[in-house]
Amino acid sequence: MWGETVQAGWHVLLVEDEPRMAETMQAYLEAEGYRVTVAGTAAEARSCLREAQAAGRPVDLMVLDWMLPDESGIDLLRGIRPEWSLPVVMVTARSDELDKLLGLEMGADDYLTKPFSLRELVGRVRAVMRRARPALFVADEVLSCGDLQVNLSQRRALLGRVELNLTPREFDLLATLARHPGRVFTRLQLLEAAGGDAFGSSERAVDTHVSNLRRKLEADPASPRYLLTVPGAGYKLAPGLEASSGRRDQ
Ligand code: CA
Repeated sequence: MWGETVQAGWHVLLVEDEPRMAETMQAYLEAEGYRVTVAGTAAEARSCLREAQAAGRPVDLMVLDWMLPDESGIDLLRGIRPEWSLPVVMVTARSDELDKLLGLEMGADDYLTKPFSLRELVGRVRAVMRRARPALFVADEVLSCGDLQVNLSQRRALLGRVELNLTPREFDLLATLARHPGRVFTRLQLLEAAGGDAFGSSERAVDTHVSNLRRKLEADPASPRYLLTVPGAGYKLAPGLEASSGRRDQ
């Protein structure tokens, strides 16, 4: 699923000060699978950019309202451009060409003029993302197991439409298991695959990673559906899982 279009989990920062407008746009973008953070002011937008970056979930695209309470969208854009090269869709209530040109000069990638349809919003966001980040559309190496998807190219994992927030070790562990669903891996094999070495990390550490991974992956970690224990042997990922009714974003 990943790779053909921009798929679930891409992070959109929606900068819009009208709460009802923001709420509607957010709901529509989320329904398309984007992860959406809303900022009501330019100052808030700047902190969101930084916080998202620091948290390792950087903003992939910004939808930016022209008129904000503390400063204009253009000023915000001008201020962040040296540091942030993310694609931007500018939203404006003013439709004249001068504004449009100004916006494009300042580095907005596209425009939406109010009123616009939500379908148009989603179409523009997708088109801009494709143009600005063609790499996001290149076919990724993705392993699928039921509704679990492990994107090796991006080192991200999705369960349904929910992105799993995995540590590098947890990701390596999951990727190893997902390469061969149904195959049993010993703790030592998993330790080696996850970059551990016999001196620095014990096989017991694998159990800890598995337990942490289950908390993120399983609707009920006590009776896992995905990451199964094989007594006396190790662990395996259940093959051929049907879509789960467990942990979803709906
Ligand atoms: Ca506004």
